[in-house]
Amino acid sequence: MHKICSFLSKRSQRAASNITRCLIAGLFVSVTFAVTVTADTQKLSATETLMVNAIDANYANAHALLEQAVNINSGSLNIAGVKQVGEVFMQEFSALGFNTRWEDGALWNRAGHLIAEHGNKGTHFLMIGHLDTVFEKDSPFQKYQRSSETSATGPGIVDMKGGDVIILEALRALESAGILDEITVTVVLIGDEESSGRPLEISRDLLTQAADRADVALAFENGDGNPATAVIARRGYTGWQLDVTGKPAHSSQVFTESVGYGSIYETARILSGFYQQMDAEQFLTFNPGVILGGTTVDYHPDKSRGNSFGKANVVAETTVVSGDLRTISMEQLESAQQRMHAIVQDNLPGTSATIHFTEGYPPLAPTKGNRELLGLYNTISLDLGQGEVKAVDPARAGAADVSFTAGLVEMALDGMGMMGTGAHTVKEAADLPQLQSQAKRAALLMYRLRDRYGDAD
Ligand SMILES: [Zn+2]
Repeated sequence: MHKICSFLSKRSQRAASNITRCLIAGLFVSVTFAVTVTADTQKLSATETLMVNAIDANYANAHALLEQAVNINSGSLNIAGVKQVGEVFMQEFSALGFNTRWEDGALWNRAGHLIAEHGNKGTHFLMIGHLDTVFEKDSPFQKYQRSSETSATGPGIVDMKGGDVIILEALRALESAGILDEITVTVVLIGDEESSGRPLEISRDLLTQAADRADVALAFENGDGNPATAVIARRGYTGWQLDVTGKPAHSSQVFTESVGYGSIYETARILSGFYQQMDAEQFLTFNPGVILGGTTVDYHPDKSRGNSFGKANVVAETTVVSGDLRTISMEQLESAQQRMHAIVQDNLPGTSATIHFTEGYPPLAPTKGNRELLGLYNTISLDLGQGEVKAVDPARAGAADVSFTAGLVEMALDGMGMMGTGAHTVKEAADLPQLQSQAKRAALLMYRLRDRYGDAD
């Protein structure tokens, strides 16, 4: 019992320690994720100016392509729609001289992915986008609508058909300046980012293979919608289920040697153990989302629901808890899992417990390479007169496909796509001039990194 009570007596201390924790977290973010801004007066080179002008000159075509793509419904479960958007982009990449193919997604119950490849020299870039949206065929939000000179609304216009068009515009600019032949590019447009097909091991196999061959990963999600930020770190997540068993007996015998504590007390010990031993760690969160306990439990993890039956005068026999775990790195994930296992195994008398973790999205840690890439991106933005770019606080960045490149590429950056507001809502709106400004940043970034990593294999 003392283990549970100590949790309650610690509550007031917790409030104070949480404030300290926030302060420390703020400090850490500002130290670790700040980008050094040096006044860079370097003018754009002739080649860079050529690319910038090419992007400006093609604006009307880029805009028309975006409108066309947004007007095709491609909710993740609309297989035909996702494939149709894939075909639109496949034609564009083929016209640019890319080898394109469609990887069918029948194995993971989704449409599949588009792969476009070009070149075999210089730095190998992996450019990541997705074709699907959260708006299925029954959504009231289906069409592109211009709302002003500089803005338009539409399903997926920001997240992330705008980003897909930016990928194309950057590559077109590189092609027009003769740079496309000096680099290696693999574009992967995922067909099921918003509702990933399972198992991830299969639905993301192509992406991890592409990352394995590449040097630099560039992802064109909308990030936090602000062109003054980009993403160098994303927390990953995994699910977990805790199953706890106790000895059923008359409640008057609880705590006795022969009966023990029952499954509900043991579950309370475990959950408060998680909280007490792990809650002060930066970027680590774990949340029990569902709990069922009693004499019998009927839980359906696929539906996140179930029933339980128990009586006040019976010691609980079964308890199930389902939750998530979010971490900034694989090291933090493994360390958290080890500690959770240890807490789960330290059972109260008369009980036993197991925890198992389900597959999830890996974390993208803020590596030295990622910080360096952001530094370069920031310099380019300043050279373009677009202002400073800082890192999004990873505590606010959810998991995304770029995370599958973690540990496989030298550097990775996300949030290079279309900027706007209201993603995942029927008010999703794009700031249209970002089509050009983001494409310019991407093209110059690839240009300046073109021979950084030597010839690809
Ligand atoms: Zn997205």
